[in-house]
Amino acid sequence: MCLFFFCATLIFVKFSDFLEKLSEIVFPSDIKCLACERDVEKGKHFCETCAKTLPFNYEHVCEVCGINIPSEGKCVRCVGKKVYEMARAPFIYDGIVKKIIHDFKYNNAKYLFKPLAMYMAECYLVNDMDADIIVPIPLYKKRLKSRGYNQSFKLGEEIGKLLDLDVIECLERVKDTPTQTALDFKERKANIAGAFKVKSKEFVGKNVLLIDDVYTSGATLKEASKVLKRGGANKIYVLTLAHTPL
Ligand SMILES: [Zn+2]
Ligand SMILES: [Zn+2]
Repeated sequence: MCLFFFCATLIFVKFSDFLEKLSEIVFPSDIKCLACERDVEKGKHFCETCAKTLPFNYEHVCEVCGINIPSEGKCVRCVGKKVYEMARAPFIYDGIVKKIIHDFKYNNAKYLFKPLAMYMAECYLVNDMDADIIVPIPLYKKRLKSRGYNQSFKLGEEIGKLLDLDVIECLERVKDTPTQTALDFKERKANIAGAFKVKSKEFVGKNVLLIDDVYTSGATLKEASKVLKRGGANKIYVLTLAHTPL
């Protein structure tokens, strides 16, 4: 019973800390809906219509990879040894969230990172993740040059501000992996093998929060987790904005 109250107090303290940080953020009064650009009420990110269709991923999720499943437990993919502690995403990769991700990846919509990071930081706290540093999934230098920024780094940076965690680019992408969309699960795994190299050892002995925009097959995030684990990381938590449905 005592332990229950201790845990409840801990969660409450973490939450009030988080809410305090949220209240420090000033919302511009002329803010538009992040999905459709209609005017929204002060303090809100989505208009009433879009808010109703937001594909939240909070119902039943796989206890390992965080994919939306019909009941509690593990999904079919998560059998055997875990590479990371858990992966979670506040949204399902669907509907307006799909559009938003496309906007920040291909339409230079950098204003999206700050509000979206709030949903991710909330997801981190709700799932009781416990990281010491944030490590974003890196882009291959050619892709970074053409996009101008790494969306995972940008999300990580905003999450770091909310959770008071440093963002350290510990990994480097040494292989230009072609887009994985047309590949099946096994092909994705082979495609991404050897794609990451350690750039900085600052993760050694630490709990890492690995950030990416979308969790698709998990091949990329698992490969990055393996490299960090082999290099001496303690626990790995994975946080993405969205998770593709089954
Ligand atoms: Zn809207
Ligand atoms: Zn799973």
